[in-house]
Amino acid sequence: NTKAGQSDLNQKIRVCVRKRPLSRKEVERAEKDIAPTVGIRSININEPKMKVDLTKYVEQHSFTFDEVFDVDADNQELYQRTALPLVKYVFGGGKATCFAYGQTGSGKTFTMLDQKHGLYVLAARDIFAMLKQPQYQHLSAWIGFYEIYQGQLYDLLNDRKKLFAREDGKQNVVIAGLKEFPIDNVDNLMQVFEFGSQARSTGSTGANADSSRSHAILQVLLKPRKNRKKIAGKLSFIDLAGSERGADRGDADTKTRMEGAEINKSLLALKECIRALDQDKRHTPFRQSKLTQVLKDSFVGNSRTCMIATISPNQSNSEHTLNTLRYADRVK
Ligand code: ADP
Ligand code: MG
Repeated sequence: NTKAGQSDLNQKIRVCVRKRPLSRKEVERAEKDIAPTVGIRSININEPKMKVDLTKYVEQHSFTFDEVFDVDADNQELYQRTALPLVKYVFGGGKATCFAYGQTGSGKTFTMLDQKHGLYVLAARDIFAMLKQPQYQHLSAWIGFYEIYQGQLYDLLNDRKKLFAREDGKQNVVIAGLKEFPIDNVDNLMQVFEFGSQARSTGSTGANADSSRSHAILQVLLKPRKNRKKIAGKLSFIDLAGSERGADRGDADTKTRMEGAEINKSLLALKECIRALDQDKRHTPFRQSKLTQVLKDSFVGNSRTCMIATISPNQSNSEHTLNTLRYADRVK
């Protein structure tokens, strides 16, 4: 058993799990914690099942991940062991992606895109500091923020304008028309981000999606000051749609069902693509969803991927938690 401090931070693909603490409301409702003891690198959850005779029994499941963050881990600790290695990597010219995967309410946004403490802010702090170093002064950072909803891209920094992805022939995916802002300090970044977040939940068109039904992608591009067309590094933070929206969930109306099917498709494609990466397969099914299409350049060539599977602690969500752990288990 390797201790957390010893697991290799520079693997091409890392899969981590983060369990959030019970919320005050859950405590008030006397909800039970599924896994009061979480071992380092492995987590056991108890899946309660109802037998026909209505006697409850408990089944044990064990998974092993690159890292498991228990309820007391804060974003700073997570950052050191998830996104920071990616920041260093993109300064070497590579492309990297950090995902949060999990059911709605499990802590994806808190982990990835919390306005003040999300991994994106912590990463940006280091990126701006690095850009001040002499060897990187020829570079500047640009951010873009968009959403994928029902297989369509929307620019969150430009009034939800529809966007289209294409390839530039140099192994880059270009999101045509995406508004990118040059950013060189955290205050500035937070302002732009806040603006985009509002577009995510309350788009002016009224045709916006509930944030749990869309994938949000915040990308930081490093570009040479003298050639803005060139990409010298790319880091993406992805807050995925809630994983609970399966086609088999028995959603009431057609719209919700279609959304569920689309999300399912993209999350399955994502898993397949990461798996293919890990096994160095020739054929990777990027075309199977918009999500994997736009991520293609972050997967081929020099790339690093870190998936953070977020789980809820409460007993009533254990079925979803188990699904999340199974998904994360199969990614690698
Ligand atoms: P999701 O984006 O997966 O739907 P959120 O990030 O919105 O979930 O988290 C749901 C709630 O739980 C929020 O109120 C959030 O602040 C809280 N929360 C999530 N993760 C943590 C954590 N690790 N520590 C404390 N509170 C958390
Ligand atoms: Mg969220």
